Amino acid sequence: MRLRNIPGADEVVANSPYCIQNPTKLKGSYKKEVFGNDNPIHIEIGMGKGQFITTLAKENPDINYIGIERYTSVLLRAVQKVQDEEIPNLRFICFDAAEILDIFACHEVDRIYLNFSDPWPKDRHAKRRLTSSTFLNRYNSILSKEGHIEFKTDNRDLFDFSVEEIDNHPLWKLDAVTYDLHNDETMNAGNIMTEYEEKFSSKGNPICKLITSR
Ligand code: SAM
Repeated sequence: MRLRNIPGADEVVANSPYCIQNPTKLKGSYKKEVFGNDNPIHIEIGMGKGQFITTLAKENPDINYIGIERYTSVLLRAVQKVQDEEIPNLRFICFDAAEILDIFACHEVDRIYLNFSDPWPKDRHAKRRLTSSTFLNRYNSILSKEGHIEFKTDNRDLFDFSVEEIDNHPLWKLDAVTYDLHNDETMNAGNIMTEYEEKFSSKGNPICKLITSR
């Protein structure tokens, strides 16, 4: 994805109290050093402008939320939305999730959300997809034993690829799947829409969702 360079974005992210500046040094100690509690940690990888994780954090004060976004130009929007609010259980990290093992210790995370992840449509880029077996192996390291992953997208090719990666993986199993989330009473209960979900569902695209655990 080509992104506009937004002047000042790096500086805003570097100075926001919501943004963790030294994630590799905090590996294994977010609960103690960042949140000051022993609550579970839920992360969203590729959080974009942050509507989903910010809403979750406000609704669930007893869970620690960390949103991960690769680009400061995108993360800036999330920071701007929360800068006048106090949400103590929410933090952001500007980081490429390909290196996620550098910022989270073994079993440190209790849930992973992947929402409308970049599709990387070319076969030669399949390993970059956030639901590829390469990433599933990384998630296996950082997720607690009872942890799970929730993935939503309107991209049917990416969704079918993800189901296949899980089916073929020796550790991961599918717990739930829907190909039309908004018309699935059970799976849609309590659903929080992301920015992309609002955009694509308003065009009539059905939203797919899966939950996977080990
Ligand atoms: N999750 C948001 C939503 O549903 O509205 C944003 C979806 S957008 C299509 C995907 C986002 O994931 C982009 O902001 C992109 O920069 C981010 N992203 C993609 N690959 C990433 C990676 N490896 N590490 C961190 N962020 C990533």
